[in-house]
Amino acid sequence: MSDSFANVLKEIIPKKTKSVPLQRSTRALVSRINDWLEESRKEEPPRSPGFHVSALFDLCPRKEALVNKLGVEVLEETFDAKKLLTFAIGHAYHDLVQNKILAKSRLIVGVWKHSGSGEEIEGHCPDGSGLWVYQEPRVVLGIPGVPESERWRIVGSCDGDLADGRLLEAKSCGIGIYSGLDKGYASLDGIDDWYTACGKDGSWAQKYARSHSFQLRLYLCGLDRQEGVVFYLPKGQPPKGEPAMKEFIIRKLPGAEEAAREKVRSIFNAWAGGEWGGPLPRKVCGSPACKRAKDCPVVTQCFAESDS
Ligand code: SF4
Repeated sequence: MSDSFANVLKEIIPKKTKSVPLQRSTRALVSRINDWLEESRKEEPPRSPGFHVSALFDLCPRKEALVNKLGVEVLEETFDAKKLLTFAIGHAYHDLVQNKILAKSRLIVGVWKHSGSGEEIEGHCPDGSGLWVYQEPRVVLGIPGVPESERWRIVGSCDGDLADGRLLEAKSCGIGIYSGLDKGYASLDGIDDWYTACGKDGSWAQKYARSHSFQLRLYLCGLDRQEGVVFYLPKGQPPKGEPAMKEFIIRKLPGAEEAAREKVRSIFNAWAGGEWGGPLPRKVCGSPACKRAKDCPVVTQCFAESDS
């Protein structure tokens, strides 16, 4: 034999090739998804007039008044593909929880509309096919001291009416925040001024607890219920030792409801019939150094003026 066994093997076994970096071939796919995301956002129906329950916690009435009074240009929030995709995933989770999980487990009651035929039925969802879409109970809160109008009211839609008479607010939650929720909810008892409890000075879990409980409390007020549940479904495998889902029981709290009304009322008073010459609403920031103030376009003017 002229060749050794080793040399023969060398011929049979293919030579190692240099590893080629992974070629992404999804550009065309991704750009089509981005186009769809942008289009579907444009197709969303306009929001009904009024102050929305979901946005009221973060709202600073003083900023609203100062921006209008001084004509400060506030850059419109831009929605890039990453943000739009996050929203789309959030919507999908919400749909999963409301129209499949809660529908099939017969936990929520109300009006269900068939997405094909348009038929409506009341009570429990007939099946968990996802074809029946829950019609969320609508909330409209008037503001004592402010004339009744579409502009000066609080509006929103609650996620669910539980069969036991409680209300439900269903949220999806990133894994990084999920573990901190218990601590966040435990700290709610320490809040004595819901008007200034907004913003994010603290952890995301704390902010979630504050804003989601505030939101639910406004629904409790609008639908005249005493108790509700904020329910969290994690967006992924929960960390070891953590439950598959979490729920927190929230009771009605007049202080939270009054804070929401006070916010709208103070903007109405500052608006002063369109002149923005009325008294400035009080500050929600403790100092110009707080996280919220640092992001505020009128922080200098805000702290230069005294509270009315
Ligand atoms: S600095 Fe804070 S309190 Fe002042 S306007 Fe801005 S957000 Fe409101």
